[in-house]
Amino acid sequence: MKASKMLISTLKEAPQEAKIPSHILMLRAGMIKNLVGGIYQFLPLGLRVLHKIENIIREELDRDGCLEILCSALQPKELWVESGRWSKYGPELMRLKDRHNREFCLGPTHEEVFTSLAKDLVKSYKNLPLNLYQIQTKYRDELRPRFGLMRGREFLMKDAYSFDKDEKGLDLSYQQMYDAYSRIFTRLGLHYQVVLADTGNIGGSDSHQFMALSAVGESEIAYCDSCGYAADVEKATSRLEQQCSDDFLPFEKVLTENVHTIEEVSRFFRISPQQTVKTLIYHDGVHQNLIAVAIRGDREVNLVKLVNVLDSNENYLTLATEEEILSLNSVSGFVGPMGLSCPLYIDEEVSQMRNFIVGANEKNYHLKNVNYGRDFTGTVCDLRKVQKDDFCPVCGKPLCLERGIEVGQIFKLQTKYSLPMNCTYVSEDGKNVPMVMGCYGIGVSRTLQSIVEQYHDDAGICWPIAVAPYHVVVVPVNYQDDLQAQLAQSCYEALLSRKAEVILDDRIAKVGFKMKDWELIGIPYLLICGKRSNENIVELKVRSSMQTQELTKDEAVEKILAELCQ
Ligand code: ATP
Ligand code: MG
Repeated sequence: MKASKMLISTLKEAPQEAKIPSHILMLRAGMIKNLVGGIYQFLPLGLRVLHKIENIIREELDRDGCLEILCSALQPKELWVESGRWSKYGPELMRLKDRHNREFCLGPTHEEVFTSLAKDLVKSYKNLPLNLYQIQTKYRDELRPRFGLMRGREFLMKDAYSFDKDEKGLDLSYQQMYDAYSRIFTRLGLHYQVVLADTGNIGGSDSHQFMALSAVGESEIAYCDSCGYAADVEKATSRLEQQCSDDFLPFEKVLTENVHTIEEVSRFFRISPQQTVKTLIYHDGVHQNLIAVAIRGDREVNLVKLVNVLDSNENYLTLATEEEILSLNSVSGFVGPMGLSCPLYIDEEVSQMRNFIVGANEKNYHLKNVNYGRDFTGTVCDLRKVQKDDFCPVCGKPLCLERGIEVGQIFKLQTKYSLPMNCTYVSEDGKNVPMVMGCYGIGVSRTLQSIVEQYHDDAGICWPIAVAPYHVVVVPVNYQDDLQAQLAQSCYEALLSRKAEVILDDRIAKVGFKMKDWELIGIPYLLICGKRSNENIVELKVRSSMQTQELTKDEAVEKILAELCQ
């Protein structure tokens, strides 16, 4: 490729909208261009990288016998009604009507479509197991689209769906995909961690996420260095302290004027926040009711766990208003678990505590020496968000917290979709049996930007060779100098004939300007033909280390080709 023919659209300054390094660099290097909030277009260099990622995914999945298909982004409402998700999915689902008023959505995921496909195409046990995948555009009307390709409203996903005869088959398919994902992310050069995950909107039983480790990641991971336990914070839990064996003390009502927050309560009673319990009231928009959650004072409620317990949706769960709290015979700032006229969910940790402080549901009062069981009851479950200083639920050693970018997730769906959608096969003994399903996603465009997040420096992107848009760029210092231009041309042809992906920078421009472009774009090898061109000597610069070396043309070409083969 000749640079003069390329659409090089590098920018000196980062556009205002970009806040994190990978987003800034993707825009500055001219890999992508924004169309409208959360929607990006791939420019030629960005698209080459995208295709390379897609192909690595294809190679690893095809190797396992997965079959690629391509489905429509537009999906009829009826399929979503069958699965029960039309009403449950929430405002992220992009809904639209055709000219006949028939309702559709733009697929945020394709469980319904693939289940209906398998239902029509698979007749008997002889067709199973089956694993179908596609690389296709998804739509989600995200509340906060941000960070470029990290959280778009339109993005590219690889989604796969496995169909098995039984649970045992699903376990095998799931493990096969787990292994394929590990190979894919390793080949892409990502530093990643696999964690236990919540199943979210997709549903089903077991699930793992593949997290690219990064300080700008929107996900938080809890992991244990001792035993290897690792989970998304949405899913993670912590070891409970031994049940406190103190005797129940008689409870007291205490006047606590202007004492509202947990901090104020702790100061007033001269106790640690861990000896208080706070009670939060939520409005559950799915079931149109109010519910209360009691949790240790220094903790946060894990909304994902709460939504699962309530069988609700995070988008429809809001903290109650002052009026709603009054309607429960309580008052904002003094809410407590005793005597509330709504369902009460109690974090299991609270059931282990003794003689704690709670709000009295009366203005300016708190209750002292309150105890679960004696003074109030409710549904006890795990509702706490894991935090610093918590202990591993498996081995009891301290948990570490780190941030990550979710690049992939796999789920055991079991019969969550096949049952309601009647996706069955005829078994060996002639019975109609629901297929047992798994589903497996990779955020292809998000993965691309995650690579940039892990591979960049002050000068720009440093693509790993496996996904670099081109391998080498040959840069004559002065293209108008015949010797330099000739040597550059012969380097270019030598590399091209050996199947390297190479650019010849034939632009009439200052060498510093040209080098800045390629360093920003992140081409792994730069071959500079300068003043020693008459001796056939070039300078080889390695982008990742920025180290340079003078070599003969042949040595440089061989060295690059050897590196590409590794
Ligand atoms: P998140 O929790 O980040 O919103 P998710 O768990 O809802 O993601 P999945 O339904 O598991 O996403 O989708 C499969 C993959 O698609 C994710 O692992 C992620 O890499 C990618 N993905 C999901 N939402 C987006 C988005 N808005 N923009 C880009 N990639 C996305
Ligand atoms: Mg996910």
